[in-house]
Amino acid sequence: MPDSLVGRAGEVAVVGLGQSGAAAALLLARRGREVYASDGNVSPALEATAATLRSAGIAVELGEHDLARIRKAALVVASPGIPPDAAPLGTARAAGVTVVGEIEVALRALPQLRYIAITGTNGKTTTTALAGHLLRALGHDALEAGNIGLPLAEVAMREPIPAWVALEISSYQLHDTPSIHPTVGVVTNLSPDHLDRYPSVEAYYGDKARLFQNGHSGSRWVWNGDDPLVADLPRLRPAYVRNREVLLGTTWRFSLQRKSEAWFDRERQQLVLLGEPLIARDELHLVGDHNVANALAASLAVMVADTTHQTAGARALMAQALREFRPLRHRLETIGAWGGVEWINDSKATNVSSTLVAVQGMTRRTVLLLGGRHKGEPYTALIGPMLRCGGTVLAYGEAAQLIERDLKGHVPLERLGSSFPDVVARARALAQPGDAVLLSPACSSFDMFPNYEVRGATFARLAAGDDA
Ligand code: ADP
Repeated sequence: MPDSLVGRAGEVAVVGLGQSGAAAALLLARRGREVYASDGNVSPALEATAATLRSAGIAVELGEHDLARIRKAALVVASPGIPPDAAPLGTARAAGVTVVGEIEVALRALPQLRYIAITGTNGKTTTTALAGHLLRALGHDALEAGNIGLPLAEVAMREPIPAWVALEISSYQLHDTPSIHPTVGVVTNLSPDHLDRYPSVEAYYGDKARLFQNGHSGSRWVWNGDDPLVADLPRLRPAYVRNREVLLGTTWRFSLQRKSEAWFDRERQQLVLLGEPLIARDELHLVGDHNVANALAASLAVMVADTTHQTAGARALMAQALREFRPLRHRLETIGAWGGVEWINDSKATNVSSTLVAVQGMTRRTVLLLGGRHKGEPYTALIGPMLRCGGTVLAYGEAAQLIERDLKGHVPLERLGSSFPDVVARARALAQPGDAVLLSPACSSFDMFPNYEVRGATFARLAAGDDA
């Protein structure tokens, strides 16, 4: 039977069985759809997922995709990790089958959901966590979902459904979410990223611009007033959207530099929201100006989401919640200090712009661990801030040669191999009392680790001197 989730009769194919693919498959099966779910890999974790799905009546295949079956599907649900030109997705598109992401399916199942959708190059997770935390502080039953970890399809299977969701949404996810229609849409900032997957930076920004694709006169947007690229983003909406008459609604801006709806009054060291101070800078326990921007973005989004969030009482609750918020793991997280050396884990810095804010914020001479799998951007932007804080770059992993090419001769640099214990040992040998060792790699972790979390945890373990 056709329904609001799929729109056509027939089997749905779910391609890729990570957390979000598995959740989408289960949601569809619970709504009475026939589902064929496949993943090109085989692993114990996937076997466990397959067992759960099979017990829900889903046909599961690991190790390969049945392209003939996918070609006949009523709809294909793709995991965000699968490149759009991968065989199963290319096959589906060539056969005229619509390809969507897990968030699209979940949104179709949650037509009444109120949600703040947060995208941008950096700061998405922190801003999403802050927004969820603020909504809960206001007494709402609110959850963080999407790219932050909890698939929205899982939220759609909960009873009761939460009143609010803070939804982190990446460019890959936006690409496949044609129904995106947030109560408030937030853009944190924009800079080149993912050039390993996108043919051009315009294509990457074009996917970010899909946030606006269902904009109308009542839409609410919160965006970074200091970032000229963000202000330009609506213009970059993909052609099929631009050609429709789209009204953009109302925009509220946050800024570190000038008076705006939310701004940082540097002179008075206060975060000012809708014309009134909310908290003092030193009450926010997050390092760096970029985190002030994240707090401004989240607070402004929550305030404009509903006018009842703007009363004096609501502001007091939000201020207290900001005071209580603590840094997320792997994001400029101080691991500890040994022998006068501070060790900082910023493993989540997987592009040059996020490493840039980390180095700009360093107040100590710094040994910077830079490397991993190259993502396509030059490293030269790091020269100025590295010279300002002093110290040395340790270039390691697959990207070491490219990093050396960009930085050598400009800043002290040593090129190392792909043994992470050796890299940490060299950092330990170089760091003097009063220095910092900063893991802020500007690269993905996939050449040496399964993900950035394992990279950060390994760094923390080795930093503490545990070589086991
Ligand atoms: P995302 O989810 O967009 O990757 P995170 O909040 O996880 O963002 O932060 C990722 C990295 O980017 C961290 O290393 C952090 O230090 C840096 N970062 C966080 N917020 C910002 C920001 N507003 N501008 C630039 N860099 C940021």
